[in-house]
Order: sequence, then C-alpha cells, then structure tokens
Amino acid sequence: MNLQKTYEALGIDEEIFRLGEKTEALLAERFAEFDRNAELCQMKVIAAMQKNRVSTECFETSTGYGYNDLGRDTLESVYADVFHTESALVRSQITCGTHALTLAMAANLRPGDEILSPVGKPYDTLEQVIGIVPAPGSLSEYGITYRQVELKSDNTFDYDGIRAAINERTKLIEIQRSKGYLTRPTFSVAQIGELISFIKSVKPDVICMVDNCYGEFVEDLEPSDVGADLVVGSLIKNPGGGLAPTGGYIAGRKEYVEQCAYRLTSPGLGREVGASLGVSRSMYQGLFLAPTVVASALKGAVFAANLYEPLGFACVPGANEERHDIIQAITLGSPERVIAFCRGIQAGSPVDSYVAPEPWAMPGYHSEVIMAAGTFYQGSSIELSADGPIEPPYAVYFQGGLTWAHVKFGILMSMQRLKDAGLLPNL
Ligand SMILES: *Cc1c(COP(=O)(O)O)cnc(C)c1O
Repeated sequence: MNLQKTYEALGIDEEIFRLGEKTEALLAERFAEFDRNAELCQMKVIAAMQKNRVSTECFETSTGYGYNDLGRDTLESVYADVFHTESALVRSQITCGTHALTLAMAANLRPGDEILSPVGKPYDTLEQVIGIVPAPGSLSEYGITYRQVELKSDNTFDYDGIRAAINERTKLIEIQRSKGYLTRPTFSVAQIGELISFIKSVKPDVICMVDNCYGEFVEDLEPSDVGADLVVGSLIKNPGGGLAPTGGYIAGRKEYVEQCAYRLTSPGLGREVGASLGVSRSMYQGLFLAPTVVASALKGAVFAANLYEPLGFACVPGANEERHDIIQAITLGSPERVIAFCRGIQAGSPVDSYVAPEPWAMPGYHSEVIMAAGTFYQGSSIELSADGPIEPPYAVYFQGGLTWAHVKFGILMSMQRLKDAGLLPNL
C-alpha cells in the first residue's frame, strides 16, 4: 500500500504529505534520543514491578471499603519505587491533577501557613484552589496565605526575590514543572533541583512540592530524584499511559503522603480504605506503557514545531530546543487559526472525528477555550489533544498521542485545515 495514497484518502494533500515526510526525515536523531530515554524509563518501571512482585492477583478488584486491596497497595509501592520516594498514594478517587494538587496542599497546610510559588503564576485551576481568585472552599478560606515570586525577564529564578519571600510562615513551595498555559519555558529536572537546593538552604524544613503534570518520563530523572518532597500528577496524563481511566498520584516523603491519605479518605482511615473497583490492571498496564507513549508524544511535539516554526509561527519550545515536558505551544496569531488547528486535530482522531469543536467557557479557566480531544477517555491529555484559549497571543497548546503514527497524522490534519481555510501565509 502506498503511504501517500493512504494519507490522500484521509484528506492530506500531496504538498502537506511531502512536507511531513521531509520534516520527519530531518528528525531521525532526535527521535532516537526519545527512544533511548524511553528505554531507560521502561527499565525503571519494570524494575519497580519486579521488586514489588506484581502478580496476577494484583489485578483483582475490591469493593465497598476496599480493605486489604493487594493490587492497590502494591501499585502504590511500585509508584514509590519508580519515583524513588518513601511512599505514594495512587487512587482513582483522586479525580484529576487539580484534585491531587489540592489534596497535597490541603493535607499538609494548617491555618496561618503560607504557600510560595517561586516560579510565577501557577496553573489556572490552582488560582481558585489557593484562593488567588476567590472561590468557595479555597485554601484562603482556611486562613492559608499565598505569595509568588515572578521569574526574571530571562525566565530564570529570582533567587534574591525568593530568599526575601520566604518567612517563618512559609510551609510549602509549589513548583510547577511544566509551562501549562503560559509561554515561559518548562523547567528541566536539573533546574528544579537547583531551585530546591537553594530553597532548602534558606529554610530546610519547608515542603517542596512539584506539580509534575506532563513531565513524567520525559527525562530519566524525576523531581523526586533531585530533592522534591512531593511530586504530584494526573493519571490521564503521562503516567497513566493512556490506559488508566482516571486518577491521580502523590509520591514523596512518607509523613506528607500519609497526611494526603488522611485528607483523601478520613482521619483514622487513611490509605486503608478506597475500593479499586476494577481499575488496577489498567493502572499497571498504563504505567508499563507510559515511557513509550511519552516518547510518541515527544516525537509529535518536535515534529509539529519543525513543521510550524519554518512557516513563521513561534513555537515554545522552539523546533531545536530540548524538551522537558510533552506540551507544544504554537502561537498562531488569530482565533480562526486556533479553531482550524483544533478542528484538524479532532478530524484526525480515532474517536469523535466527525465533530467540530467550539470554544466554550470551561470551569476553572480565564477565557473561552477550544479543546480538540477525540480521546478514548474524557479529557485524557496523554492522548492526542489540543487546547487553545481564545485570547492573545492565540496560541494552541497540544500534547499527547498514544502512537507516533497517530500524532503525525493529527498534526498533518491540523496543517491541512489551516491551508484549506487560506490561513497559512506561505502555502
Ligand atoms: C493538567 C495540569 C494540571 C491540572 O490537572 P487536571 O487533571 O486538568 O486537573 C495542573 N498543573 C499542570 C501543569 C497541568 O498541566
């Protein structure tokens, strides 16, 4: 079968197809690096599963209270070993990344404590969690205060500002690894390590929590390898490997993770309860696949930057820059282009390919957002997905892709849609 004809039947014209082939050919070396990193991470996951004697019994389910759930408890030990932490909480009852972060903060903070973000504004949804934007149930309502120190104009840490902001009430440092919906760069694990060392030199007993969303398995080290006390993320992002149907994780120092368990369920019960309801197998298998899925997503991100940047669209990270998360931001410069891009991604999806996404006012976000997500699991962003806030500079943020072939097709579709609408300056 001829590849070009196959693509043509799916709506990709010859010009876009050739551009894709040319771009892919230039990226062989970078793709090999992603494969090599996936290999390292794969071994880390296999080693953790073997050490914890994962067995078919672990795939059994529990119901009701969920006492003595071997699969759930063993999975938590596996996560702790993958992240090289003392403990981990990995639950379907943690509904999403925002919830996991909320839990980690609410569980470890008491009235009068202060949170510090040394890396500027946190992820949109955390504004209401912390109470930067007033919201019912925010940490601010419990007398927990918040400060942030902006990055310097060259996007490096403002060490003097951070030292000045740390005070006797500073209890928890919130470090967001990934850029999220910002156009600042994502921090490398090494950068996060330097930041944590500095903070600990100023105040040794402060809790350094890293919002690890979209960063897992992008490098062979995790923030918990360089001093983070807690790492937190979502199972419908990287570590779920596309198979975990829902859930979140918190890994880190035992005393802090235990607090999270008591907050998630209840004081006195902690991690002993929480029925796994049949999802353990998917969580194990997803973690097992996660390193290679992350590699596919990284290939897609680099491919897209190398397609779009030469056409004059600013990309973060840039086409030749190193990767520290799976998100690719492309500044398209107009709402029409953002919408066309997202519709292209949707049109290339295995699920809901026939629907045309529209911008809408998503809970927790500032502006209207258009989301393309032809995913098997709702909102799963380790699956190929794109979101574009309808506000200047009109950037799309896309991420994920369970297989490289699908990401490639999705991105070619996005470009085809832009071209068909006459929105590409040079094609
Ligand atoms: C996705 C994300 C979150 C929130 O996760 P949800 O699962 O969408 O609630 C928090 N921080 C960052 C950096 C993220 O990318």
